[in-house]
Amino acid sequence: MENRYDVIIIGAGPAGLAVAEELENTSLSVLLVEKNSVIGPKICAGGITNFKKHSEIPPEKMQGSKNHTIFIEDKKYELTLADSIRTISRANLGEYQAGKITGSKNITLLKGTSAKSIGPESVVTDKGIFSFRYLVGADGSASLVRKHLGLGRRVSIGLCCDVEKVHEGFVWYVNPRELGTSYIWEFPHHDHTNIGIYFDPKHLSAKRARAVLITYLEKRNHRISPHEIRGGAVNYDFRGCVFGNIFLAGDAAGLASKPSGEGISFALASGREIGKKILDPGYEMTGLKRILKLKKRQEKILSIFESFPPIQGLLFRLSLALVRKRWIQRYFAN
Ligand SMILES: Cc1cc2nc3c(=O)[nH]c(=O)nc-3n(C[C@H](O)[C@H](O)[C@H](O)COP(=O)(O)OP(=O)(O)OC[C@H]3O[C@@H](n4cnc5c(N)ncnc54)[C@H](O)[C@@H]3O)c2cc1C
Repeated sequence: MENRYDVIIIGAGPAGLAVAEELENTSLSVLLVEKNSVIGPKICAGGITNFKKHSEIPPEKMQGSKNHTIFIEDKKYELTLADSIRTISRANLGEYQAGKITGSKNITLLKGTSAKSIGPESVVTDKGIFSFRYLVGADGSASLVRKHLGLGRRVSIGLCCDVEKVHEGFVWYVNPRELGTSYIWEFPHHDHTNIGIYFDPKHLSAKRARAVLITYLEKRNHRISPHEIRGGAVNYDFRGCVFGNIFLAGDAAGLASKPSGEGISFALASGREIGKKILDPGYEMTGLKRILKLKKRQEKILSIFESFPPIQGLLFRLSLALVRKRWIQRYFAN
């Protein structure tokens, strides 16, 4: 196998696959390295807001609803949004994205291959050493490439499990007196519901979050054995995407949203932007600027919540009243 490539991408999640897709059918030789032998599956609730920006994903691969049931301190509210939030199984998303580059002449996908270390112009993997002109770290929240750049990370945690399908809409549960700004979600998928809790480990311990989720599941009559609850981290510590000839995309770049933990749409968008930047070094990355603006808006709201813990319940109710306004929905979708 050739061992010199124009571009090496580490990680075939949504971000890495989006970079590869952008570079498909160009004159650049691309190596995409993925440690898992199957592309796609990941512990994730699969929610995609901002669906219109990713409308290339075939609708039949997704489930969507405009209807949301929201519990704030056990009081129930209903909300209908102008646009659906979609869900997609990560296996389906991975299969769809990988399908787009399958057979591509300039892209080599090496599955079951783990990047172990990075040198000045080469990547050491368990299948050999490969050298690059450009390196893209799309290797998730514990990114090796990010570490190589000497960047730390700040993470929040999600714990979740799949249960039998409960309903077609979304459910959100917040209880600031008990959980601060953490929340529990129920996301509808084609054949199941994903239920989980998202929390900042600085404010809620993993042990406590797991106990809260188990109690929630029991109250809703879902019998789950504890090992079915699985989790992962999201990195929201954005420090840049371009570091000379090294790029960071998605969670590796810290692009997840701190308040919500959402990261798929940011991963897809940043991957596309990095692909464009590699092809045209003068490209201004306007799409990246747009998603950073959105991430900042979301994080500003969270900082207001974090500044006033005693009135978080009131702030959640106020936010709900505002989210009913179409212009607010648009403001947080653009
Ligand atoms: C419980 C939970 C629920 C979530 N729910 C949602 C949700 O509903 N909506 C949403 O938008 N986001 C959600 N997220 C966040 C979302 O999963 C991430 O933001 C998203 O997956 C980031 O995509 P990525 O491509 O940057 O990284 P990843 O999807 O993590 O992909 C990274 C890839 O790199 C590979 N890799 C890592 N290291 C190496 C290595 N050394 N060598 C080779 N390959 C490597 C991994 O195997 C993986 O395939 C959730 C996260 C968690 C933990």
